[in-house]
Amino acid sequence: MKIYLNGELVEKEEAKISIFDHGLLYGDGVFEGIRSYNGIIFKLREHINRLFESAHTIMLKIPLTKEDLIEAVKQTLRANQLKEAYIRLVVTRGEGDLGLDPRKCKKATVFIIADKIVLYPEELYETGLAIITVPTRRNVPEALNPQIKSLNYLNNILAKIEAINANSEEAIMLNAQGYVAECTGDNIFIVAKGKLLTPAPYVGTLKGITRDTVIALAQKDQIVVHETILTRHDLFNADELFLTGTAAEIIPVVKVDGRVIGTGKPGPVTLRLMKEFRELTTIDGEKILN
Ligand code: PMP
Repeated sequence: MKIYLNGELVEKEEAKISIFDHGLLYGDGVFEGIRSYNGIIFKLREHINRLFESAHTIMLKIPLTKEDLIEAVKQTLRANQLKEAYIRLVVTRGEGDLGLDPRKCKKATVFIIADKIVLYPEELYETGLAIITVPTRRNVPEALNPQIKSLNYLNNILAKIEAINANSEEAIMLNAQGYVAECTGDNIFIVAKGKLLTPAPYVGTLKGITRDTVIALAQKDQIVVHETILTRHDLFNADELFLTGTAAEIIPVVKVDGRVIGTGKPGPVTLRLMKEFRELTTIDGEKILN
């Protein structure tokens, strides 16, 4: 496996960074998880744009232009000859001292890993997930905005631990007011009375790229979409429910906190969007590997 590290492609064993890197010491950095389908990188520019937005908000200077970073991602994928890949792009504050002061970190660290994708078992896409709400609330945007895709994922990991302890595949996180925010690494959608509803980013969610893609697909299908406020009651009484994310794509949910959602089977709107999404991944983007 070849890793892109600060402008060079190195073997995995040689891809090392300083233990004084503030990405490690403080989770001070930003990242993206990107996917390629049959040699086509899906929504690469959207991921790069979101990375730059996250970096801008935390005042982290990425030492490459967007175009150079796009080239670096493509180069990493080619070097690993992976057509179906999960690509992790990380920019940390870089090496500093033991204090918090980011001014001591003179140069950001940039690395890119192209690895195989680990998927949920195909069966779960047919039967749907049973998931739960967990006690850990999503970070309040006033403290650490979930729209920043930062290396600080402990909030999500705490929720994941609660899901694992309860034998659940995923956790629904509420915001501090008790409104539905998102899952630990996925956004949430419901279908109710023919409309598609999803928590608005101000509730405290990441503006997922799969989320935005699903919204666009639904609008193309003349489905009304609302970015809004949702309660657990709304989820329990939805006709359909599904999660979206780069790794998960679109995955149906048929049970929340023991309540059966809709018919208890993936619904027609979900299935249609899943099909349209899969079709889009085969054509949307430039072919990097044949
Ligand atoms: N929410 C969180 C907290 C995430 O980590 C992710 C995965 N990046 C998502 C939502 C889904 O975003 P995307 O569709 O861009 O992968």
